[in-house]
Amino acid sequence: MKKLTIDLPQISKKRIAIHVTRAAERAIRGGHPWLFENAILKQSHQGKAGDLAVIFDKDRKFLGIGLYDPDSMIRVQILRALKPATINQQFFEEKLGAAHQRRAPLRDSDHTNGYRLLHGENDGMPGIIIDRYAETTVIKLYTPAWIPHLNDVVAALERVFPAKSLVLRLSGKMKDNPFGVFDGMLLHGEKLESPIIFLENGLKFETDPQMGQKTGFFLDQRENRARVEELAKGKSVLNVFSYTGGFSVYAGRGGAKEVVSLDASKIATEVAERNFSLNQPAPIAKSCSHKSVTGDAFELMTKMKKQCRLFDMVIIDPPSFAHKNSQVEGAIRAYKKLTRLGLEILVPNGVFVQASCSSRVGSELFFDTIYLAARQSGRRLNEIERSGHALDHPIGFAEGEYLKCLFAVVL
Ligand code: SAH
Repeated sequence: MKKLTIDLPQISKKRIAIHVTRAAERAIRGGHPWLFENAILKQSHQGKAGDLAVIFDKDRKFLGIGLYDPDSMIRVQILRALKPATINQQFFEEKLGAAHQRRAPLRDSDHTNGYRLLHGENDGMPGIIIDRYAETTVIKLYTPAWIPHLNDVVAALERVFPAKSLVLRLSGKMKDNPFGVFDGMLLHGEKLESPIIFLENGLKFETDPQMGQKTGFFLDQRENRARVEELAKGKSVLNVFSYTGGFSVYAGRGGAKEVVSLDASKIATEVAERNFSLNQPAPIAKSCSHKSVTGDAFELMTKMKKQCRLFDMVIIDPPSFAHKNSQVEGAIRAYKKLTRLGLEILVPNGVFVQASCSSRVGSELFFDTIYLAARQSGRRLNEIERSGHALDHPIGFAEGEYLKCLFAVVL
């Protein structure tokens, strides 16, 4: 078994006993993976991040067990409900094994070796995700509650899915921490020759798992990118919020005559250029031109409109605009504005693609917003498809549903 060479904090031997409200009890029975701070009625003692918390119902019967985080509104990340469990390497191995099994079609593919191995709460392990890029795996933590359990998780991962290198990424709020771990840390294995190259549907992409956004790539858009490829033949394509050019490269292979990648990050647009070149002259034809522009999407699309610059296909895949409920209204305004701007630079009968990754904006609301903005712009949508989540990004509870994408021909 591989042990980490860093000293991790130890959890307390004493479990925290927690009694919760009736509403929380119902939610936990229904499989919800989070216990919020304000749903706690009584607690045996204060604990440290990662201590085990046992939740009891009104009759003092076992309701669930999970990881405690004293500094988060999500006070307990629930690992098992209704049936007691010992939380150890074997427990994690079972969860990882099941997640791995679910991904069999991806695991056995010759064309794709970059995908999500573990999708947090939706695979029964709240607050932690694991992505694979070829021979490298990346663990990303969203709560320090996982840190004391890292040895067990790493050992479990080694057995289920051994990789050459294992990288640790930490969410923003965890970057400054006293636990001796840091964002981008190589947990074990070979030092990475950054960036690394992996395959998605037979296309090559470079990624930097130690420095890139999220874990290095937005793996959740794989199927939407494939759809773009099918629709791109002969078209001039604008990829807005392109990051490292995922949609651009697919459009190129699909036979686009011209692709423009637009993103605010210079580093990302430079990688987009390299990713395009990596696949040209094959499978992307030499005749397909690619250009990247760095800057603000709203400003640059407005400028394109003023210059009467039109495209046959516009893809808009922005970052999440709503991290809390109070931001939902602003997010809707931003989506609407992006739809309007996108349609203004789209030729009649052009293909329009718009995605949202804000879980707080539900799919109906998002699709209605696009339709409303289109009507206000005097354009009609002829819908091709509404898509959601791929196999490696399952939805295990309501808040787990975040990705939606609309494909339409616009009259
Ligand atoms: N479509 C991408 C993922 C997009 S992630 C893919 O398939 O991989 C969101 C991207 O939006 C990030 O790369 C971020 O740099 C960029 N971004 C954020 N705000 C922006 C803005 N105002 N204008 C342009 N790009 C922006």
